[in-house]
Amino acid sequence: MLEFEDIESKKIHRFFIVDAHHHLGADVDGHNNRNPVAPGGTFDFYVKVGGRLSKLFSNKPHIFRFSPLGFMNEIVRNNKKWKDALNGTWAVDQTVVFPFNDEFKWREGDEGKAIYWRSNDNIARWVTRAPYSLRLIGFGRTVPAEGKLAINELRRMVETLGLRGLKVHPRSDGWSGEIVSQDVKNILVEAAKYNIPVLFDTRGFGQVLDIHEITRMARSELLSTDKTLVDNLKVILAHIGFHLGHHELFTVLSHPNIYGDTSGVHDAGIPRLFEEAKELLQPNLGRYRNWSEKILFGTDYNYFDVPHAVQFISYVLSNDFPGTPEDAQRILGSNLLKLVPPFKRKIKTNFAKVHVSTELAESTERTLAKEVAGLAGDNSYELSSIDFFIDPHPSFQVRPRDFKLTLSQRENEHYEDINLIVISVLDILTIARLDNSMMNTSPIKSRILRYDDAISRRSFYEKLWPESLETNPQKMSDFIKSITKTGN
Ligand SMILES: [Zn+2]
Repeated sequence: MLEFEDIESKKIHRFFIVDAHHHLGADVDGHNNRNPVAPGGTFDFYVKVGGRLSKLFSNKPHIFRFSPLGFMNEIVRNNKKWKDALNGTWAVDQTVVFPFNDEFKWREGDEGKAIYWRSNDNIARWVTRAPYSLRLIGFGRTVPAEGKLAINELRRMVETLGLRGLKVHPRSDGWSGEIVSQDVKNILVEAAKYNIPVLFDTRGFGQVLDIHEITRMARSELLSTDKTLVDNLKVILAHIGFHLGHHELFTVLSHPNIYGDTSGVHDAGIPRLFEEAKELLQPNLGRYRNWSEKILFGTDYNYFDVPHAVQFISYVLSNDFPGTPEDAQRILGSNLLKLVPPFKRKIKTNFAKVHVSTELAESTERTLAKEVAGLAGDNSYELSSIDFFIDPHPSFQVRPRDFKLTLSQRENEHYEDINLIVISVLDILTIARLDNSMMNTSPIKSRILRYDDAISRRSFYEKLWPESLETNPQKMSDFIKSITKTGN
């Protein structure tokens, strides 16, 4: 999280940064990022990005720093190895990682399995293991032309591996001419059922138009089969900066289900992208949507490197950027969080909750962090994910005190997930272990806590409503211990 503290007023501006486009694995073209903690890997990259940003922002009328947000800070404080591994990397908070065209994606003998199944397993291994799980959001990859195999892999990816988005690459996987096809439409519809975004690589503007077309077809299918899924259709065009000069890009981006990532844009392309977006995209969106809701920051590491990321972030946070700090926060992180549902695999645990007053809130969070870090440092548990909630429209700020975490307990050969939420409502801190039905409510799925009376949200708040406050710290601690076990 980036922080700018005004020296005179002491006012602090915070930005939660999410990299929406980042590769992990080893490509047949020679690019690789096999180990995100190794020199030249993901975290080393962020150390360098942070260092450069510090230099750039050092002689301004504010203090610049970066650090882990809220509960992430509490967690790493409890484990020296994790703290050291992530030291200096916090200029970027979270990162979407997905496979390259991996050299290990498939082997002889894998007949009957989807092409990228080994790559998807590899991503899942990294993103569900502390301390990387604090930082990495896993997307899988498939080749839609594999038909039923690709659909089954998408299901496995989400239900078993806990991946939260899909990357597809028409050119690299040899289906550039088949974007407008039944198979691609089926993949988009299936992804909507799981509420996960689909990120397309784009080369040549013809592909952008094809993706627009197939998205429209998938949308109209959802409209006629299950209207409730229409908003779950989320398509991200990678590299929108490659298509500047094609004004139709902004017509495509105004489609309600289409977004664009900025990876690859650099130098004069950066101001041009934002000036055009503001001028050409906003009129298509009308009064109630904002051009900045459509654009996501991505680095495409390691096809692009430190200078691109630094140029981009520093421009968006500069006075030249033609938007507000809210626009900047959306582009640099919240838009992505809004598109990606929190970590969820199969759930068997039942619901349990406890409430404490504000005075006990801090010590309760510390107790929870200590318990979670202690368990995850042990062999029989894993900390699989931490997901923050975001403020509702229009600010989309990340809420440091409201989050969900998934702790996974090993049972024989597999893990059983324990999903805990911590939220502060009306001066009361609530900790709850979620059951399957709670995980399917709209505040969890959209990660937006919106206190109103809509039916889809009411059951969530009714279930979490405090009946009494726990005032005894020992009982609180016992409760936390009890909900971190999969049994009742
Ligand atoms: Zn890429």
